[in-house]
Amino acid sequence: MSSNVKRTVIVGGGVIGLSAALAAAESGHRVTVIDPAIDNHAESSGASWMAGGMLAPVTEAWFGEEARLALDIAALKAWPAFATKISRTAGQDLVINTAGTIQIALDIDDARDLERVRNFQNSMGLKAEALSRDQLLDIEPLLSPQVVAGSLISTDLSVDNRALVDTLKLACAHSGIEFIPQQVRRMTQVADRVTVVGTADGEFPCDDLVIAAGAWSSEILKMISTDSEHSIPVIRPIRGEILRLKSEITALRHTLRAHVHGFHVYLVPRANGEVVVGATQFERGFDARPTAGGVYELLRDARELLPYVKEMEFLEARVGLRPGSPDNAPIIDRVPGVANVILATGHYRNGILLTSIAGDLIAALIDHRDLPADAYLVSLDRFSGVTR
Ligand SMILES: Cc1cc2nc3c(=O)[nH]c(=O)nc-3n(C[C@H](O)[C@H](O)[C@H](O)COP(=O)(O)OP(=O)(O)OC[C@H]3O[C@@H](n4cnc5c(N)ncnc54)[C@H](O)[C@@H]3O)c2cc1C
Repeated sequence: MSSNVKRTVIVGGGVIGLSAALAAAESGHRVTVIDPAIDNHAESSGASWMAGGMLAPVTEAWFGEEARLALDIAALKAWPAFATKISRTAGQDLVINTAGTIQIALDIDDARDLERVRNFQNSMGLKAEALSRDQLLDIEPLLSPQVVAGSLISTDLSVDNRALVDTLKLACAHSGIEFIPQQVRRMTQVADRVTVVGTADGEFPCDDLVIAAGAWSSEILKMISTDSEHSIPVIRPIRGEILRLKSEITALRHTLRAHVHGFHVYLVPRANGEVVVGATQFERGFDARPTAGGVYELLRDARELLPYVKEMEFLEARVGLRPGSPDNAPIIDRVPGVANVILATGHYRNGILLTSIAGDLIAALIDHRDLPADAYLVSLDRFSGVTR
C-alpha cells in the first residue's frame, strides 16, 4: 500500500461507523474500525443491533420537525441504491420490505388524532391514505376487530437491521477494512491533531479520526482536548426496550403503528416470521437491563393491535441505547479545535434510516469535499456557543 494512502480510524462499528468505513475505503483511505462489539454485536447494547429497522420518515415526522424531514426523505430515497451497492460488495442480498406502514386508531378519539396527523402529513406532500376498518381487516386479517380506522403510508418501509449490520460488515471485510475488537481507551494528540488511538492492547496511528460511538460518543470526545472555547453538545443515551417474537405463520405484512394506553407501539414484521415489538423510551444513563414493566407494557399494547401476539414464541427482550443530541437531530461535523476529528453521532430514533446517506457525508468531510445543501441540518453550527 502506498505511503500516500491516508489512515482513517473509526471508533464505533454500529451502522454509522460501518457505513462511514465503507465510504472512506471507497475514497481510497486505509480504514480501521475499532469496537469491542464488532465480532459480536448481540452482546452489546449498541442501538444498531437492537433497532426496529423502520425506514419511516413519514410516520416519524412530527409537528415542528419539518426541517429535519428533508434529511429523512433524502435518506429514504437513497436506500434502494444503497442496499444494492452494499449487497453487491458483500455478495449477499439485503432486502427492503416494501409493504409499507399502517397507522391504526383503536377508538374514535384516536381516529380523530390520526386524521389530524394525516392532514399534517399530506400538507407536507407526504402520501397518507385513509383506511376504513373493513379495509384494514382486509389487508391485515389478524388485526384486532376493535380497530376503528387507519392510514396507509406506502412509502414508509423497513429493513432487518441485524441483516444490515451483517451485510455492512461483510462489505467492509471485502473492501479491505480492518476490524479491531477492542475498546478505545485513550488518544495521543500532537498540537491540534489526534495522531494515535489507543486500546488496552494496541496503538493505531491515524491521519483522520471518526467518532461514531453512538450513545458513548461523548465518552470518546472526553479523551481529546479540544479548544476550551468550544463546548461540544453532550450526547446522552436514551434507552429503548424492544422485543422479538416469532410465529410459524407470517402474521403480518405491513409495519403497524399505534398509540395505545398513552404509549406509542410498533410491530415490524420480518420475512422469517419474526415480529419486532418496540419500543419504550426513557433516560436512565447507560443501564441496559430490561424491566418487567417495559416488557409488560409492550406485550399488552401489541396484543391490543394483534391478539395473535399471545400465540407467538417469545424470543428476546433487550435494551438498546439511542444516541441523543440536545435537539435529537444527528451531528455529522468536524470537531472544532482539532484538525482531524469528525463526530458522527446523535442519530437517535432514525439511525437505520440515515445510514444510507451518513457514510457519504462523513467521507466528504474527511476529504474536505463540498457537502450537500441539507448538510447544515447535521452541522454543529446549529448549536449556539459552537464557534469556529
Ligand atoms: C429500541 C430502538 C429502536 C430503534 N428503531 C429504529 C428504527 O426503527 N429505525 C431507525 O432508523 N432507527 C431506529 N433506532 C435508532 C438507531 O438504531 C440508531 O440511531 C443507530 O443504530 C445508531 O447507530 P450508531 O452506529 O451511531 O450507534 P451504535 O449502533 O450504538 O454503535 C455504537 C458502537 O460504538 C461502540 N463503542 C462504544 N464505546 C466504545 C469504545 N470506547 N471504543 C470503541 N467502540 C465503542 C459500541 O460497542 C457500539 O457498537 C432504534 C434504536 C433503538 C435503541
